[in-house]
Amino acid sequence: MEGKEVNILLVDDRPENLLALEAVLNSPDYCLIQANSGMEALKWVLKKEFAVILMDVQMPELNGFETAKMIREREKTKDVPIIFNTALSQTLENILYGYSVGAIDYILKPVDPIILKCKVDGFVSMYLHKKKVIEQNAVISMRTKELETVSAELRKREAMARAVGETSIDTIVSFNEAGEILSVNPAVTSMFGYSNHELIGERVDILFEFSIDDVPKRANVDTIGLRKNKSVFPIEIHLADAAVENEKIYVCTIRDITERKQYFDQLEGLVVERTKELYKMNKNLHREIDEKKATLKKLYESEEKYRLLVEKAPETIIVRKVKSDKITFINETGVQLLKAKSKDDIIGMSMYDLIHTSYHDRAKRIFRDLQEGLPVLPYEEKFICLNGEIIDIQVKIIPFVYGGEESLHIVIRDITEIKRNQEFIQQTEKLSVVGELAAGIAHEIRNPLTSLKGFTQLLDHEFSTESGYVDIMISEIERINTIVGELLLLAKPTQDEFRQVCLEDLLENVQMLMSAQANLHGVVIEQSHAQPIQHLRFNGVENKIKQVFINIIKNAIEAMESGGKITLETTKVDSNILIAFHDTGSGIPSHVLHKIGNPFYTTKEKGTGLGLMISKSIIESHEGELRINSVLGEGTTVEVLLPVCESL
Ligand code: ADP
Ligand code: MG
Repeated sequence: MEGKEVNILLVDDRPENLLALEAVLNSPDYCLIQANSGMEALKWVLKKEFAVILMDVQMPELNGFETAKMIREREKTKDVPIIFNTALSQTLENILYGYSVGAIDYILKPVDPIILKCKVDGFVSMYLHKKKVIEQNAVISMRTKELETVSAELRKREAMARAVGETSIDTIVSFNEAGEILSVNPAVTSMFGYSNHELIGERVDILFEFSIDDVPKRANVDTIGLRKNKSVFPIEIHLADAAVENEKIYVCTIRDITERKQYFDQLEGLVVERTKELYKMNKNLHREIDEKKATLKKLYESEEKYRLLVEKAPETIIVRKVKSDKITFINETGVQLLKAKSKDDIIGMSMYDLIHTSYHDRAKRIFRDLQEGLPVLPYEEKFICLNGEIIDIQVKIIPFVYGGEESLHIVIRDITEIKRNQEFIQQTEKLSVVGELAAGIAHEIRNPLTSLKGFTQLLDHEFSTESGYVDIMISEIERINTIVGELLLLAKPTQDEFRQVCLEDLLENVQMLMSAQANLHGVVIEQSHAQPIQHLRFNGVENKIKQVFINIIKNAIEAMESGGKITLETTKVDSNILIAFHDTGSGIPSHVLHKIGNPFYTTKEKGTGLGLMISKSIIESHEGELRINSVLGEGTTVEVLLPVCESL
């Protein structure tokens, strides 16, 4: 019992009585409160809760009964036990009245302390007990309320769980440790074809294509379900275990995933298709990239092609700035044309270093026209190459912008050969005209020669001088006649007919034809034969071979400005005849030897550079060979090899 929790009200109008009561009841467990009138007692009762009230009956103003009656009338205090103190003189009637107003007990004065203490203690313990009962009641009613709430909640949950189980499209089956089915929800019927009661007590494995023992717990597992009709279908199961009242049970949720599977299969199909598409797209992309690369490469290639085009163009291309006459670019063709070693030899040179001085004024005039925007047509001029050679060129100037600067694109064509050709054609025409004239004249000469010869012979008969002059005259006339005959033969238009030609006669005729010119230059022509050639014949066009030999001898004479000797040597080599023309002329430097016979290659001021070329082609058309050997300062040998007729 907690100290001072128990209040006891002592009511008496006499302080000595109160003192006495206090002395009897004094205890650490009680809180004794004194009131010396009924009024005061009422005040205390309003303020505090009392376990018991000890009340004097005879008090002035409000007596004990009246006070007790008022206490009883108050709801809160109506059950507080009141013990009246009264004198022995009290009548029974009085005592009864006391009970009617609420007394619980009476103590008669003079008070017996032991009885008083016992009574008060008894009421206090009743009070405390009552208090405890009230407290317990409160707890019980609270618990009851809690229980009600919980059980309502449980009922709700159970209903919900049942509703979930019953309405679930998943099959929910519970089974014990032995694998016997304890419960199953209605979904099982549509999913497996069993009715609810068919399954209760059966082994759960009836529903699967596998043993439930192999299924891991608390995980979603894709597997195969088995229907009553033995058909199978894809399922997803979730197995959980739980302990219910010390017994272990299992709950298995089964979901039919046929649709999901189909959906997944569809999805997989879609994925495969999409992957294929992507793959195709990727391939296309790669192809596009490759194409782009190829285009890029082509671009570079075309740039390279363009560069090559410029570099290897048949024309020389020179670029110079408008502001300066210095050359800023030249292509490879130009380097070759100008006989330079590299581009660097030319880049930086002035255009006027290349243009022949006699053309400088005109070049300047053309440049002025260009600057004034006047049209400039292609024109011809001469260039001096780096080795001093002078070449004829045709120039075309195109203004353009190069490296951000106003420049001139100069295209140069080497027309030296064209020029020479033109001159040659002119010369040939002149020669053919002269030749025709010569042929005509030869005819005119032959007739008087015949009469001259006749008359000379006549003179010889008539005067028969011993001097021999006439013989000389006749042989000279004969010689003139032969030469004129040869000229006529040569002038005749060529007939490309092959005939058997006598080499001896041919050489004789050529020597005779050329001897006049040879004499003029102090050149002697001799013949030397390793074997006799009287019967040697070859198959060919006589005039053409003659033309070749004349060319060779003419070249030899021209190589011997201050006289010399030409030797015609013949040697039979197998079925060929080798005719070698030796001269004692200037010879040919070895570095030009390989150019001899190229068209238009000449070292002579009035040369054509065609003689040997034509000769070569004639000999080759006779299935022969023409070779040139030469030693500078000693002389030249031209060898002609011709097949001779087999019959001989
Ligand atoms: P062309 O006589 O008109 O110059 P050719 O084709 O007959 O043309 O000769 C070409 C060049 O070959 C001559 O210009 C000359 O330099 C050289 N040549 C030919 N024959 C001889 C020779 N016998 N001796 C020295 N040089 C020769
Ligand atoms: Mg010649």
